[in-house]
Amino acid sequence: MIRENVRNILQGLPPHVQLVAAAKSRTPEEVREAVEAGVKLIGENYVQEAAAAQAVVGRGVKWHFIGHLQTNKVRRAVEIFDLIETVDSLKLGLEIDKRSREQGKVMPVLIEINSGREPQKSGVMPEDTEVLIRELVRLSNLKVDGLMTMGPESGNPEDSRPYFRLTKDIFDRLRSLSLPGAAMSSLSMGMSHSYRVAVEEGANMVRLGTIIFGPRPGWAAPPKKTEPEK
Ligand SMILES: *Cc1c(COP(=O)(O)O)cnc(C)c1O
Repeated sequence: MIRENVRNILQGLPPHVQLVAAAKSRTPEEVREAVEAGVKLIGENYVQEAAAAQAVVGRGVKWHFIGHLQTNKVRRAVEIFDLIETVDSLKLGLEIDKRSREQGKVMPVLIEINSGREPQKSGVMPEDTEVLIRELVRLSNLKVDGLMTMGPESGNPEDSRPYFRLTKDIFDRLRSLSLPGAAMSSLSMGMSHSYRVAVEEGANMVRLGTIIFGPRPGWAAPPKKTEPEK
């Protein structure tokens, strides 16, 4: 199943869009199956889960951290991840820079935008993004490769469109500044139910879990689609 799902998704994605397999709560064997089917990027929400998966899958693929990163986990995260998608504060950036320097690395990061401006969610507020990036690009062991957003949860992918569009606007504006240390090449947005809309709105990286691996164990089934597929 995983194999077929990956092949179908890869065939359907435009060539400029990178697939990140969101692997939270999957077994290392499931992750390996996805890799054998052609997945090149793995997204992990938890440092320990990622370490367990890497022990089976190896470092031949790239590992993205896509969860909420606590400062006390940064050292380990810098050891085992190739990119951190969820930087949303100077404090976190400083810690990543420090730990990367200790390990002789330059860590690529994406800035997570709280595009729905939801108080309980992580991510920098849209209007604070530029100030944060201007601070982060001064750190020499970190580089800003682009932006990431989740957007508010909704059963209807069309509801996500304005948040994706807002994030793309910020992305384009920051890109046009050509800040040294901020290549702004990756725009990570869209999950299983919303990635088609995200790609239409300019995402070049999508994070897909459920449609690769099936419903997460112990999770309620997603809401039934109310609209026909386009
Ligand atoms: C779980 C997760 C995804 C994938 O969600 P699906 O709905 O299973 O595709 C994408 N991004 C992040 C940050 C996640 O935690």
